Amino acid sequence: MSSLTETGAPPEGAAAGEVPILGTYKRAPMELVRGAGVELFDDTGKSYLDLGSGIAVNALGYGDAGVKRVIADALETGLIHVSNLYRSEPGEELASALVARSFADKVFFCNSGAEANEGAFKFARRWGRNVGSDAKTGIVALRGSFHGRLFASLAATDRPSYRAPFRPLAGGISICERDLHVLDLALDSDTVAAVIVEPVQGEGGVRVLETAFLAELRRLTAERGIALIFDEIQCGLGRLGTLFAYESFGVVPDMVTIAKPLAGGLPMGAILVSAEIGATMKPGDHGTTFGGGPLVSSVALEVLRRVSDESLLRSVRENGAWFGEALRGIAKRTGKVRAIRGMGYMWGLDIVEKASDVIERGWDAGVLILSAGEHTLRLLPPLVMNREQLARGVALLEQALG
Ligand code: PLP
Repeated sequence: MSSLTETGAPPEGAAAGEVPILGTYKRAPMELVRGAGVELFDDTGKSYLDLGSGIAVNALGYGDAGVKRVIADALETGLIHVSNLYRSEPGEELASALVARSFADKVFFCNSGAEANEGAFKFARRWGRNVGSDAKTGIVALRGSFHGRLFASLAATDRPSYRAPFRPLAGGISICERDLHVLDLALDSDTVAAVIVEPVQGEGGVRVLETAFLAELRRLTAERGIALIFDEIQCGLGRLGTLFAYESFGVVPDMVTIAKPLAGGLPMGAILVSAEIGATMKPGDHGTTFGGGPLVSSVALEVLRRVSDESLLRSVRENGAWFGEALRGIAKRTGKVRAIRGMGYMWGLDIVEKASDVIERGWDAGVLILSAGEHTLRLLPPLVMNREQLARGVALLEQALG
């Protein structure tokens, strides 16, 4: 079925002015046409301070000179894509850089967060069968989790409204309370291959899991031969003030999934795996056409170099702590905030009003804010946002809160 007539006019039946993009998102009315630093501009020239980073993607902001240079250089080679049938230096260099900076021994590249988590589930099952039996296939996720919208990642996502219309979801995946007693009962070494955890639950309301909880979960899973997967798709790559989120908690998992900011806005995900899990995967066990291509890998190398920089990470920790205090100041002054959670450049505010109303007033005020639930605002500024810009964000947020 063609979506364009020969004249380029909308096909018959399309309502006048209606954009033929499937209506899975409720989009804001303004059209963004340009970005610079930590600001976006719409087609009328109005500017918006970005406290959302395109949902945790644009860690280096907009129009970054390093990213632009790397893209231009990469295009000069003529190689945007070569497929995974051949060797290609940028992907190999990126894998080595990720391994050098983490616990991991091997890396698998893919194209999105959901894909990274689905891959991690496959790796866990492959490994589980190896170390256990054919019954060791279960994947356990936590209450409040968000791991993606595909069938297995959705089965690990605790959002009834996202799940219900698409049942049956992938089997063998269950959601467990964030409670060590319940987990102790659920984590059967014969039937569970892996537990997946966001160290800071993003979509679930910006809930920072306790270090003691994560440490005990690590102890339990290690003792029972169950793989621990950290989904760092939203909270990793510098957002908490450490390169990997697991470093902020001092707990080392067996697999980490990353995506969002990895390739500076180009689609890319990755699964970092321990030597033991990596050793069980053989040619033919998993694949993807686009994963780890030369262009995205070149950009990701630049992003990784930048978000690994200790002075950037320190500023995320220090400015992030300052930002948290400033948000507490808003709570005191307005009386409209019920709770504040977060760390680094990842904060959530439970508010009395509907989040969508505040977000809309934010557009008028010139600030982009995210939500994480009906009454929770979520703030994920670009990691390059400085304190003065954060202070402007705080003032605009206060204005939007009314
Ligand atoms: N995991 C977490 C923690 C996320 O925040 C997201 C996206 O918001 C995903 C997985 C899914 O990523 P993607 O939208 O790239 O599939």
